[in-house]
Amino acid sequence: MRAIANLRRLSLFTLAFASSCANPRHTDSVIAQPELRARRLEADVTWLSADEQEGRRAGTQAGLRAGEWIAQRMAELGLEPRGTRGYTQPFEVPKPVEVRPGSAVNGITDAAKVAPLFCATAGEVAGEIAWCGYGIVDASKGWNDFSERIDGKVALIVRGTPPDSVGTQPEAAAATSDAVHESAGWGNSGSLFLKVMTAKRQGALAVLVAPHPSQQSQPLPSFDVGRAAQSVLPALYISHELAAALVPGYDAAISAIDVGAPLAQAPRPTASARVVSNVARERGPATNVLGLLRGADSSRCVVLGAHYDHLGWGGEGSLDSQGGAQIHNGADDNASGTAVVLEVARALAAGPKPDCDVLFALWSGEELGLLGSEHWAKTAALELDSVVANLNLDMVGRAGDGKLAVLGAGSAEPFAAWLAELGPRLGLELDVSLSGQGVGGSDHQTFLKRKRPAVHFFSGLHGDYHKPSDDAERFEAEGAAKVAALALELTRRMAATRELAWVEPPAPTSAQPGQARAGGFRVWFGTVPEYAYDGKGLLLGGTSPGSPAEKAGMLAGDVLVQVGDIAIETIQDFVYALQTYKPGDVVLARFLRDGKTEEVRVTLATREAQ
Ligand SMILES: [Zn+2]
Repeated sequence: MRAIANLRRLSLFTLAFASSCANPRHTDSVIAQPELRARRLEADVTWLSADEQEGRRAGTQAGLRAGEWIAQRMAELGLEPRGTRGYTQPFEVPKPVEVRPGSAVNGITDAAKVAPLFCATAGEVAGEIAWCGYGIVDASKGWNDFSERIDGKVALIVRGTPPDSVGTQPEAAAATSDAVHESAGWGNSGSLFLKVMTAKRQGALAVLVAPHPSQQSQPLPSFDVGRAAQSVLPALYISHELAAALVPGYDAAISAIDVGAPLAQAPRPTASARVVSNVARERGPATNVLGLLRGADSSRCVVLGAHYDHLGWGGEGSLDSQGGAQIHNGADDNASGTAVVLEVARALAAGPKPDCDVLFALWSGEELGLLGSEHWAKTAALELDSVVANLNLDMVGRAGDGKLAVLGAGSAEPFAAWLAELGPRLGLELDVSLSGQGVGGSDHQTFLKRKRPAVHFFSGLHGDYHKPSDDAERFEAEGAAKVAALALELTRRMAATRELAWVEPPAPTSAQPGQARAGGFRVWFGTVPEYAYDGKGLLLGGTSPGSPAEKAGMLAGDVLVQVGDIAIETIQDFVYALQTYKPGDVVLARFLRDGKTEEVRVTLATREAQ
């Protein structure tokens, strides 16, 4: 913490010195001094990743505050405002999901007896109880808890899976009755999301999830804000006591199943339930922050961008195994990229006029699916037309060892040669990939998919990625200062090159710079979803090169509405569908194209095939 105090003093001095000239266009040499540059970057990363900024989640007041601070910085640098409201461009994003009081079953609201599931949607319904046992359909085990549809009913299911032996050799079941845990033998059949979606598919109005009798003393699970899955129906955890009231003989019914008795023999409950689920899934304000530095030629524009939003108090996107609300400070992701963009703006504003306009773009909503840069690209058509290239920085705060991954170098002819020359000159060891894809996505993809040359800087994954521990103390300022020097030089060259023709970058090969396998699904479909789309179905923003979807002829703009026999209303239905099939499965994909319904057969591949 002390170190921080010193550097704060240092940066305040620098800022005072810079501002005392009442003209930030101070001499380039002073600004370029690596030591001073490193201190300035450190000061900005420290401010952006301080607890006061609450992890800068898009859709929150903290996110808006960080946007205001950046706008203020752009004004100090003398950039021209390029938002729709001064420097800012407001747009809407999904807010963090909020559990509100009032969820109930038959008027019981006690949170120890009733609590919404992570995938619950707000709603109030009433219907007869349908007792569905474990609520599992697993063809490989010949197990089906939905022998008949349950249209208009409220499904009541028990957590976990039956003993491994049940369903294969019933007689062996008697021996082992600890059936509560999700045993390996059932694969992910025990996953709650799968059970809820299966009940929905069978016509359920709502789903109630109760504990196995052997776990009745455990408190109801807390709401997991980290899971973005949405089932589009009310879904609640209920206590054992409530389950026993709704399904007389509840314990006996489960013991019977656990020793192999078919569900069909279980007594049918006569109770009905009025279910209220009060989970708020609302949209909130976010802002892109955009400032322009006029160049010699205003018919062309280079976009230097980085996202400034992060994960807030955790939840969706967090890799923190502890769970629970904690500030995800996002020093590396992506206060580092934001600070470098501001530093390059400072240097360019102080130096000779660039050969064309440079737009400094600090995006929000990236962590929610590139929402900010996509919003800009869709609404700033005129400006997009003048864009000749994009340089994107996302996580450049761990380049202390001089190592930096560069993606997208194949999207315009001169990039690779420039990088080969500049890297060693600036003391950087560049791991250059011609492909635009690597680990996870970032805002350069918004430009690549619109066939604009785009380069992406990334100093690699680390143990603090998407965790509360991604703090300013771990920011490697000297490395970032070198990255800033490279970004400055590359921006200048992009601006100076009249013709930067688009080159279709090659598809990614298996080993990508800074690569670490991300994501949990076995099955690969290869759609690139449009996250901002809120209509019914899954709008494709494109397909991944070489993917099953591409091979099946699916195109950007297609709206996927069915995969196999699963209706796709939301992206979660699609996620669910991916979990239901296995690599090699051929599924019928139904989609809307130009208002007409089309069908293709898609052969699913393994993720490893990606
Ligand atoms: Zn990021």
